[in-house]
Amino acid sequence: MRYRLIYTLLVTAQELLFGKKLFFDWQLGDNWALKSMEILEKELAEAKKNGGGDGTDEKPKYVYRRQIVWFNAIGFLILHLASIYGLYLFLTSTMIFTMLWTFIVAGFSAFSVTMGAHRLYTHRSFKCNNWVKASLVFGQTVAGQNCLYVWVRDHRQHHKYSDTNADPHNATRGFFFSHVGWLMVRKHPEVIEKGQKIDMSDLEMDPFVMFQKKYYKILFTVLAMLMPMLVPHVFWGETLWNGFFVCFLLRLTASLNLTWLVNSAAHLYGNKPFTDDIMPVENVYVSMFGLGEGWHNYHHSFPWDYRAAEFGQYFNLTTILIDFSEEMGWVWDKKYATPAMVRSRATKRGDGTHVKYGQQKTVADDGDMPEDDTYDELFWLEERAKSDRSVAQKG
Ligand SMILES: [Zn+2]
Ligand SMILES: [Zn+2]
Repeated sequence: MRYRLIYTLLVTAQELLFGKKLFFDWQLGDNWALKSMEILEKELAEAKKNGGGDGTDEKPKYVYRRQIVWFNAIGFLILHLASIYGLYLFLTSTMIFTMLWTFIVAGFSAFSVTMGAHRLYTHRSFKCNNWVKASLVFGQTVAGQNCLYVWVRDHRQHHKYSDTNADPHNATRGFFFSHVGWLMVRKHPEVIEKGQKIDMSDLEMDPFVMFQKKYYKILFTVLAMLMPMLVPHVFWGETLWNGFFVCFLLRLTASLNLTWLVNSAAHLYGNKPFTDDIMPVENVYVSMFGLGEGWHNYHHSFPWDYRAAEFGQYFNLTTILIDFSEEMGWVWDKKYATPAMVRSRATKRGDGTHVKYGQQKTVADDGDMPEDDTYDELFWLEERAKSDRSVAQKG
């Protein structure tokens, strides 16, 4: 895994510097998901020559050439360098209250992205009152991940055209592209074309979303940048310098990278107990740090499930927050897949690694078991909890 990461970084660096691969162009086996742009371009050119391409009737309309948007690329580079400096300040000269404040802002805004932008607005997996909605839109603005309207459109498009040319962060183009590279190059023409057809009518009727869209620049400046840096300065005398680099830049970059990991790592490294013929995988590490968004094979199999995972409780803080909100009466109509639906999906389309429904398949398979058995442990933990509960009820 570590060598793959180093390899990806090297390839990415040389592609960015020279526009093509110069030194490293060997393939690392079948599993290697990074397909270089050259291969993609060659395939497209070939498909165009053959007139039909990969078995579909539709003729490819475009031959895509990658064009780096240098303004964005340099912008993201500066953002990350400044955040490393922010991390240095965080560890050396930040006041303890400021550290706490940074965590609170980061946590609140991150939950607003996972519970608000993702599970509520993109997938409509539960309903909630206007107070919850307003605070989620508020928090999503603090997160600084573009306005909800664009966020939701990109994510709906990602689900509709997962890992094809029309997916904004198409993971067949490799780790770097699906992580952040997609924000540094001109969009693929198919992304633009299909993006215009995504149904956004529900968001267009939402006053919170449209207000945020209309005033996004000013709201971003005030809520994502000024508010996090001014509060520590005004209330406990933190320097504005620290506020800017720690509470604004470091916090923003950290939460951006955690969100991006769902698009990159959770499409590349892990197993596929529910649907084998797609790229998204179950990745416990992404779930741990991504508030429960790393159970991504499940999520792409049942996108409308509010838990975004087979079990809501484990490494899934967002689900815990939604359940809590329901108990408070703020959230209702949660949608989720029944165990029968999960079983049917896992037996029919899973890769055989599901701990309960995948066994027969695994025996018949070549015995290629997943390396990471955290998921199995969680499953048996859940089963034990269930039987404990039923014993307690009987007693
Ligand atoms: Zn995905
Ligand atoms: Zn989703």
